[in-house]
Amino acid sequence: MYDLIVIGGGASGMLASILAGKAGLKTLLLEKNNRVGKKLLTTGNSRCNFTNKNIKLERYHGQNTNFIKSLIERYDYNFIKELFFEMGIESFYVEENGKAYPNSLQASTFLDVLRFEMDEAKVVLITDENIKDLSYKNNFTVYGKEAYNSRNVIVATGGMSMPKNGSDGGGYKFLKKFGHRDIKTLPALTQLKLENPHARAMDGVKLENTNVSLYVDGEFVARENGDFLFTSYGASGPTVLSLSRKAVVALDKNRKVELGVEIREGGELYSRFKSMNQRTLEEAMVGLINKKLIIPILKGLELDWNMPASNLKNEGIKEIENRLSDFRARVVGHTGFGNSQVTNGGISTDDFDPNTMESRLQKGLYAVGEVLDIDGDSGGFNLHFAWASALAAVEAIKETI
Ligand SMILES: Cc1cc2nc3c(=O)[nH]c(=O)nc-3n(C[C@H](O)[C@H](O)[C@H](O)COP(=O)(O)OP(=O)(O)OC[C@H]3O[C@@H](n4cnc5c(N)ncnc54)[C@H](O)[C@@H]3O)c2cc1C
Repeated sequence: MYDLIVIGGGASGMLASILAGKAGLKTLLLEKNNRVGKKLLTTGNSRCNFTNKNIKLERYHGQNTNFIKSLIERYDYNFIKELFFEMGIESFYVEENGKAYPNSLQASTFLDVLRFEMDEAKVVLITDENIKDLSYKNNFTVYGKEAYNSRNVIVATGGMSMPKNGSDGGGYKFLKKFGHRDIKTLPALTQLKLENPHARAMDGVKLENTNVSLYVDGEFVARENGDFLFTSYGASGPTVLSLSRKAVVALDKNRKVELGVEIREGGELYSRFKSMNQRTLEEAMVGLINKKLIIPILKGLELDWNMPASNLKNEGIKEIENRLSDFRARVVGHTGFGNSQVTNGGISTDDFDPNTMESRLQKGLYAVGEVLDIDGDSGGFNLHFAWASALAAVEAIKETI
């Protein structure tokens, strides 16, 4: 009989097991992969952007984000920074946008430290254990290859994103069995597919520090500044990931979704073209933008590329200027949960106590991390929620033992 069984050895599950073990609770961590923390290794481009200096409620999404208001106040940036500092993750590298990383800039070292801590906290770890069911009768029984008994259970199985790392929505089933509701899941922080006949030619072109806008049914919805990447299927890069949540929700409602990409910051081209009477229009574009983009831009405008640039009429120049400052392409899809970093939706927070993460429907049952209907922006917000929710749950369980 365990005091606590944690199902899922991802970010939140590992931390919950460490905290419980250190508090003297007999703790079992069950993970379906052959090792813990597979996804953690991929976070922050393998550098593990584990929190953010500017943790704010506005950076989180879900049907009831107020659920985490007190949680992120209680376990704020300094708390999380200090918690991992005490475990040995020293010095933090904070970029201008508040992103915090271990000083090593290696997610693998972050995971190593968590694994040392699990050993030191005497957490019993069983890997290759895919949990299929959970029941309650006086105590909990957790069913995998074997059956395990416990007074308390934390479900830390993650969302639907990147199923190859283990999180495939399996945990929703256990919680629904106890009467919990799930909110429709959609990928967030994901790449977008564009209707772009020139996608193959433009593949690999990266625009740095540019503006990308999202339009739904022709109306401006949001703008992001940062890097943008044209790909063979459409678009990627931080700007696209940040806009993707809203784009995917609108696509799901069958609305017309478009991206407007600033290929070149505005500014007139009149004097450039008028001075180039020796060069064709196509040649006059060389040196202005990435070469791979010249033909796609001109093709879209149906101009004669072979004419001397200086012969171009004012309207033609205007058309090029507009297309360069707002290259519009229709969004026709996304790359799915397989490539998304986080899941929009999950188990409704309505039936959980926001102070303890305990189910209001079943005493002793807790849910933490991405399995719940909370997702954050890119920048350390998702891992921060994983840590904070694990802290709250274990704090509450300690009180009961
Ligand atoms: C490529 C990528 C990069 C990211 N970068 C960042 C970043 O830099 N900063 C940030 O804040 N967030 C980032 N995220 C998001 C972040 O990784 C997740 O939000 C976070 O890991 C969620 O933690 P979790 O503990 O809830 O779930 P997970 O970390 O997904 O862990 C869930 C665990 O449960 C296990 N499991 C699932 N079902 C079962 C079952 N039935 N039985 C047993 N075990 C089970 C899984 O194998 C997995 O190990 C990134 C995500 C991805 C995919």
